[in-house]
Amino acid sequence: MTEKTLRVCHLYGNLMNTYGDIGNILVMEYYCNKMGVKLERDLISLHDPFDPDRYDFVLFGGGQDFEQLVISEDLQEKKAALTEYINNDGVMLAVCGGYQLIGQYYVDASGKKIPGIAALPHYTLGQSDNRFIGNVKIHNDQYDETYIGFENHSGRTFLGEGERPLGTLLEGHGNNGEDNGEGVIYRNTYGTYFHGPILARNENLAVRLINIALKKRYGNDYQERSLEELQAM
Ligand code: GLN
Repeated sequence: MTEKTLRVCHLYGNLMNTYGDIGNILVMEYYCNKMGVKLERDLISLHDPFDPDRYDFVLFGGGQDFEQLVISEDLQEKKAALTEYINNDGVMLAVCGGYQLIGQYYVDASGKKIPGIAALPHYTLGQSDNRFIGNVKIHNDQYDETYIGFENHSGRTFLGEGERPLGTLLEGHGNNGEDNGEGVIYRNTYGTYFHGPILARNENLAVRLINIALKKRYGNDYQERSLEELQAM
């Protein structure tokens, strides 16, 4: 059996890492270790090229309006490569500020419109005198799974064609406080307002993302694992 590697890109990990979103990668590493899979992590930030063929998983974390503005110009330079990665069914987890910027645009708390890469059709409006803060609980009907997390955002995100929510709200504000949806699933890209980090509190989702990513890279050479199996190891 050849040694398997999960190649992870932490996109703007030195700028977009609110509430320790990097913990999502540590959770993946924990399960990869159990499987005997090596996890390699690159920090890809300002002025670094993004190679869409290199990575099996991309984490694009959250940030304050300030950091989103700092990365916004550079992000446009990576737009084509990131869009190619997403459209090739690359696996991505985009949290909060990152989730907003893989969509069309984010209007920040001061009313400034920050363009995203528009790889996904959602868009995010601002609110000047309010933030959505607190615990969130959602249910995903497709997988019949419940996810819990913590949100803190001013943005109100509205999904577009081809996008379905990560889950339906049981508690909290979610995407926009109006339509009961939280997060997004589009191809193998997952977006969410859950910090926490989401994969530490929702290990079922962590294992699903690892399975999709390794299957995509290794095909039949990779046998999918269940959370129960991994927890027993
Ligand atoms: N700055 C964005 C907002 O307030 C994203 C926040 C975040 O990533 N936590 O909506």
